[in-house]
Amino acid sequence: MQVISVINQKGGVGKTTSVANLGAALAMAGHQVLLMDLDPQAHLSIAFDRMPSPGDPSVYTLLGGNHSVADVAQPTNVEGLWIAPTNLDLTGAETELAAEIGREILLKSALATYAKEEQAPDIILLDCPPSLGLLSLNALVASEHVLIPVQAEFFALQGMAQLLDVLERVKQRLNPSLDLLGILVGLYSKQRNLSREVVEELKEHFGNLLIPTLVRTNVRLAEAPSHGLTIFEYAPQCPGAQDFKEVAKELASRLGLTKDVASSAPAVVSLEASKPSATEAELGAE
Ligand code: ADP
Ligand code: MG
Repeated sequence: MQVISVINQKGGVGKTTSVANLGAALAMAGHQVLLMDLDPQAHLSIAFDRMPSPGDPSVYTLLGGNHSVADVAQPTNVEGLWIAPTNLDLTGAETELAAEIGREILLKSALATYAKEEQAPDIILLDCPPSLGLLSLNALVASEHVLIPVQAEFFALQGMAQLLDVLERVKQRLNPSLDLLGILVGLYSKQRNLSREVVEELKEHFGNLLIPTLVRTNVRLAEAPSHGLTIFEYAPQCPGAQDFKEVAKELASRLGLTKDVASSAPAVVSLEASKPSATEAELGAE
């Protein structure tokens, strides 16, 4: 079971769109995938038409210790794709859980129990809220991997230093196995000079961490959730579907999940790409 936080404290950068469609693409490639909605706005849950009624099992009751992941997870219309949905109750969670002992490890503990169960998936994608509070912290502590969606816009890099700093501190203090899996560019427009310039800048900063497939701006991706569908059900031939399929392939390969690759070593890159750690040096990583 590999857990990936899809995180960026900025809203509207494509986190939820990426979680829904990468999850569907990975499930269609034969992996068992669970999506978890950690955003009190519940956009992911609404997109799958699975928002629980108040009090019903949800990510909120999960973090409150009243339900297990197995209680909360529901199948979607895509085979192999499950969702742990949330509702607006989660809005109060950050304050309610603030005084809880071990408040940062609530999700990690719940997932550790789930990992031992027969129905445990291969991949869990965590859709994080647009903030770096307790919910995002729970996601980062429970994950081995981090995927950062960014918009190909002028402000793409703004806030990135703060996010990388939080990741580094979580890695040092709470979760040594946290690694940056990639930076994913969404809302890319080839016609716009600005988009191209931003991608060049991201390449300079992040090198191979930048996922080579850029997700193009495609109105179908914005329409699909209002029909309760992933892009592969709504418009399987559109550029958005092609892009997310390619990105999913790249992620599966970085996670060491590619079926035709014999090596099981995941090709993850250290957060400190410029300063290889002793472990990486020992392993002979680049
Ligand atoms: P976040 O979860 O980071 O807030 P969303 O995934 O909800 O971001 O995306 C923000 C808005 O942009 C949504 O309305 C979504 O449908 C739209 N969107 C995301 N990616 C694309 C894309 N590649 N092309 C067109 N619209 C997109
Ligand atoms: Mg979102």
